[in-house]
Amino acid sequence: MARIVSGTAGELETVHALRHGDIVGLPTETVYGLAAEMRNDDAVRRIFTVKGRPASHPLIAHIARFDQLEELSQDLSETCRLLVSVCWPGPLTVIVRAAPGVSRVCTGGRDTVAVRMPAHEVAQRVITALGTPVVAPSANRFGHVSPTSAQHVDADIGEEIDLILDGGPCDIGVESTIVDCTTSPLQILRHGAITPEDVHRIVESASPAGSGDSRVSLQTTGPSRAPGMMDRHYAPHATLVLHDDVGTVPRDGAPVLRFDDDVVEAARVLYQRLRELDERHIPLAHVVLPPARGLGYALRDRLTKAAAGL
Ligand code: AMP
Ligand code: MG
Repeated sequence: MARIVSGTAGELETVHALRHGDIVGLPTETVYGLAAEMRNDDAVRRIFTVKGRPASHPLIAHIARFDQLEELSQDLSETCRLLVSVCWPGPLTVIVRAAPGVSRVCTGGRDTVAVRMPAHEVAQRVITALGTPVVAPSANRFGHVSPTSAQHVDADIGEEIDLILDGGPCDIGVESTIVDCTTSPLQILRHGAITPEDVHRIVESASPAGSGDSRVSLQTTGPSRAPGMMDRHYAPHATLVLHDDVGTVPRDGAPVLRFDDDVVEAARVLYQRLRELDERHIPLAHVVLPPARGLGYALRDRLTKAAAGL
């Protein structure tokens, strides 16, 4: 079991551990991350080992200052600057061209890098005190359900790490929206709490009417554009049967999880609900999906992946 720490003393201990090359559980507003100092290649490699994550699946750099985006990137587009100026700190990750000094261990060998400025105050203070970016993929074993509390991190990978910083339950509960800013039009590679409608609105606000060159498209090309986005992911052991309408759910005694009501609350409790299925050894559950709009896209995406057969 890892030690779970909190408060100012816990934050200081976390900064110290990161500086000395340890990997630690770190709270963010989306899900808990497994953090390492980005410039420490050995620490970053340990993340891949502990998670069981293929080395080709790149990690997201978490920053606390806007100038750190400039340091990590080159050729930033105006649209990207606009997006981050509106959405940061917050649940938006941008893919940008990596500066030459960025470690290819973090980028999975790519010449692009993913960057996000988290809004969680604890994460901000830790990254600010450290003074350099951290990488922080979700603190779960590869393919498992993402953790939204310090206890979830402990249950999944507590045997492999020494320290978890407890910042309370995550406010948002699903991973960040990923927007590829190296393509024109921009592409949303992963849905999250910054919705396609949000991205459209921000981008449209800057483009001359009818210019068309800054429209947003959804990912249409295969998984190679965003490695790590396999069909089955975020998965509990239970078989999930998805329904678009509560009216089609059979009364067969299996539990019914409804995500079609308050989507913000649904996102916050999503992974907790999936974990509970496993804790109660439930073999099959019915899931009612929210409509495909706003945060509903992210919920539908995660639930579809959680339901996908092996
Ligand atoms: P997470 O699992 O939350 O750490 O998110 C990491 C995901 O971000 C990866 O699995 C990729 O899908 C995506 N990603 C990170 N860096 C890049 C990159 N340079 N190019 C494309 N996708 C990326
Ligand atoms: Mg993950």
